[in-house]
Amino acid sequence: MISLENLTFHYDREASAVLQDVTLAFYEGSHTALIGPNGCGKTTLLKHLNGLLVPNTGRISVDGMTTTDTASLREIRRRVGMVFQNPDSQIVGMTVEEDVAFGPGNLALPPAEIRRRVDACLERTGMKGLETRAPHTLSGGEKRLLAIAGVLAMAPRYIALDEPTAYLDLPGQRRILEIIRQLQGEGLGIIHISHDLHDIAGADRIVLMDRGAVLIEGTSSEVFRRTDLLESVGIDLPRGWR
Ligand code: ADP
Repeated sequence: MISLENLTFHYDREASAVLQDVTLAFYEGSHTALIGPNGCGKTTLLKHLNGLLVPNTGRISVDGMTTTDTASLREIRRRVGMVFQNPDSQIVGMTVEEDVAFGPGNLALPPAEIRRRVDACLERTGMKGLETRAPHTLSGGEKRLLAIAGVLAMAPRYIALDEPTAYLDLPGQRRILEIIRQLQGEGLGIIHISHDLHDIAGADRIVLMDRGAVLIEGTSSEVFRRTDLLESVGIDLPRGWR
């Protein structure tokens, strides 16, 4: 479990808090969606889950390890994989297979195990056959899949995805959503930022944020029923959903 207790965070001490007293939990095998208007703090919250940012007050623990404990950070980062909005920011290899091998290479695993993981993760993401391609020549959708493969090669327990279907065509979006479903089925905890309510309608839990705080969390029917709250933050339910 990843638990956030009374999390408060400022980028700049002079500015107002970007996250305000956030208490939440994310579970293995469960798909949680984070929604809310632009700038409400979703990405900032995500970056706290693997210690890229640490709270000013409050505490985050990942399977019992605290993100402010530097001795645990390596293991926390292995357990909580991050797929950022811009896949270019995550590319580290000259070829697809080198890129996927980078993470397990840092875990000092035997070469045969690294090879096994690279093959398995390219298979799981439908990227087989692209091993020798230079990542910068891939399509936007393929780059996202590459980022997911790279994260999966670390054998994480959770995967946090920031708008993973943004700017993709419909087949690309479907492919990513199918992989998310498959990963959840394999027992991973999914934390999924999205502005597309269709993408997250099947999530186990939806967290609606506004101005750095949680407005409501619940099942999709509980949250989508609260049209007053959704409208108050500028989210329109698709036609026919009310
Ligand atoms: P969301 O993901 O919901 O769009 P963000 O977490 O990206 O929201 O941003 C929340 C707030 O924090 C916004 O006001 C944004 O301008 C600010 N912010 C985001 N990143 C930084 C940063 N690196 N430095 C200062 N302020 C930031």
